[in-house]
Amino acid sequence: MRRLFVAGNWKMNLNRSESLALATGLVRELGSVREVDLAVCPPFVYLEAVGGAIAGSTLKLAGQNLYFQPPGAFTGEVAGAMLTDVGCTYVIIGHSERRHILQETDELVSRKVRAALGCGLRPILCVGELLEEREAGRTEAVVRRQLEAGLSEVPAAQLGRVTIAYEPVWAIGTGRNATPKQAADVHAFIREVIARLYDKGVAQSLIIQYGGSVKADNAGELLGQEEVDGALVGGASLKVESFVGIVRAGVAAKRGR
Ligand code: PEP
Repeated sequence: MRRLFVAGNWKMNLNRSESLALATGLVRELGSVREVDLAVCPPFVYLEAVGGAIAGSTLKLAGQNLYFQPPGAFTGEVAGAMLTDVGCTYVIIGHSERRHILQETDELVSRKVRAALGCGLRPILCVGELLEEREAGRTEAVVRRQLEAGLSEVPAAQLGRVTIAYEPVWAIGTGRNATPKQAADVHAFIREVIARLYDKGVAQSLIIQYGGSVKADNAGELLGQEEVDGALVGGASLKVESFVGIVRAGVAAKRGR
């Protein structure tokens, strides 16, 4: 049985005191929950403060990005070793905002995944199609390409450290979530691709999150899908009640299955 994994991607939101208040509220409500893996992904500059606020709880810290090079002359970038140094367990890689706004390529994503694993971080590799790609029937081709590239440097022995987040770009921040069936179908496809690239056992144990307008009132039906192992949450992770609502709905849905 795969574990449920819910992560909150705070993106470029909140100031220091808001970040601390959110982290403290999450620890109060969720800090001793053991049946689900939980992570928060604050902006780089608040990682250390938030790490302090969640210390000793079951919540884990995650970066939203990293640079693939070791520490050195790369102005404005952050190395994986720096993320581990401030207590990160996970790092998001290849988020659609980085792919489409900041022009990150499949090759760069692949280098970042390798760098993250090399530093002992657990990558959350995001994949997902644009609306026009879905409408043109190219969802599977896009997701396959992103998986093959993103995992090209990942040996089977390391795959257990990787989480895949299926995030259809048209569902991110739009209020229009994928239907449970749309999500489940792509998750099943991702498992097929992984089975071909690695083997069936590895594919079956891979954690695949869904991301895209997950809220407390749709989390139950999305996370209740056999193929959906959790969520990467953007907007609804910025408030204690909505993130807690998603986690509780997810736990209830998995228990009831
Ligand atoms: C995300 O940014 O990963 C995301 C899923 O955002 P939202 O939940 O706001 O759609």
